[in-house]
This record gives sequence, structure tokens and C-alpha cells, in this order.
Amino acid sequence: MKIVVAIDGPAGAGKSTIAKALADQLKLRYLDTGAMYRAVTFAALDRQVELNDEQAVAKIARECIMQIDDDSISIDGVDATKAIRGQEVTRAVSVVATNSLVRTELRNRQRRWVDENSGGVVEGRDIGSVVFPDATLKVYLTASPMVRAQRRVAQSGGDVDQIAREISERDQRDSSRSDSPLMKTNDSITIDTSNRPIDEVVMQLRRLVSQNEPAVDAQG
Ligand code: C5P
Repeated sequence: MKIVVAIDGPAGAGKSTIAKALADQLKLRYLDTGAMYRAVTFAALDRQVELNDEQAVAKIARECIMQIDDDSISIDGVDATKAIRGQEVTRAVSVVATNSLVRTELRNRQRRWVDENSGGVVEGRDIGSVVFPDATLKVYLTASPMVRAQRRVAQSGGDVDQIAREISERDQRDSSRSDSPLMKTNDSITIDTSNRPIDEVVMQLRRLVSQNEPAVDAQG
């Protein structure tokens, strides 16, 4: 039986840091699905494809060769690791994420990735709700808007009020889209990371994974 940990939540909730540390401790691979949406957005901008042209953007998603590792991502041989974190991509990505054709393709790739890696810690917005509804553990991470904005400023600089506004717009788009919006599922555990040390949250999740893990490895 594979272990799949689904970590969802809004921007700046601490998903990546916590998911990476947890994967490390559980000796699982880590997948950042936001990076996949960002990579498709990067390629569309780079090729001057109109982002509202659903078919054209979906074609990129379907046909691209995406190489995703823990700390890097390339699309069709172009290293996009830095560019996908830039302002241009960050502002455009939630538009691409409303494209159902893109979502279907990336969802399939995410499921294949988990099969190939025999499980994993997967972070995103719709992982527990849609991509892996049977995940071993589903976690919804959150933090206060100000803490989330401050974290982003500490990572990439910028004005905290402006970043807070941008995060809130992106959260709004991510939560209100019709296809697989950001949401808490009834069976997920919600953790507010505003005032909690990362190590403590990771330890809590480790314990929860071992409680949810099947005692007997029935399917190998
Ligand atoms: O996690 P990150 O902030 O890098 O995600 C970038 C964007 O990708 C999100 O704002 C959202 O629009 C989209 N996304 C998504 N579904 C996921 C992961 C990310 O729609 N599973």
C-alpha cells in the first residue's frame, strides 16, 4: 500500500517547507504541483500564447516534456526553476489554473508520478479533494494573511501590503474557480502555521501518517 500525503492550502501557508521536510523524514519523494501549473504558464508566456486561449495552452500542457525534481523544473529542455517564481508567472498562473483541459492533463501527470514513485508527499490546491481523494493523510495548511505575506517578502522581497493584496486576489481566484477549487475536505486535518515552529508541525504530521498507515502491507 502506497503512502500518499496530500498537502493543500493557500499561498504562503508553509506547504513547500513542511511538505519537503515531511517527505525527507518519511523517505518519500516530494511533488510541488504548483510548480507544474507555473511551468505551463511560463511556457505559454514565453511562446506568446494568449492565456485565455484554452486549447492553445492545453496543447502546451499535453505536449510538453516536463522534468520535475525536488529543486528544479524544466519544460521542453528550458530550465524554468527561477522564472516560474517571478512576478509575471505568479500573476498569470491562477488564470491558467482555471483551464480544465490543463487541469486534466496535469492531474494525470501527478497520478502517474505517484505511481512511478510508489507514493509521495504532494502539495497543491486540489490534491486531497480531487487528485488523491484516498490519500493516506490529507492536510489543509493555513496561516493568517499577514504572516503569509511576510513569508513571501522574506523569500522574494517586495512590499508587504502589495504582496498581501496579490496573494488575496490569487486565493480568491483559486477558491472560486469551478474546476477543483481550493477547499478543505471534511476528512482533512487543518493546521494553522501562523505561530507554530515548522519542526513541530512536521512531527505532528509524521505521527498522523503513522496512525493512518495500514498496519499490514497488503498490496506491496
Ligand atoms: O503553490 P503555488 O503558489 O506555487 O501555486 C501556483 C498556482 O498554481 C496557484 O495559485 C494555483 O492557481 C495553481 N495550482 C492549482 N492546483 C494545484 C497547485 C497549484 O490550481 N494543485
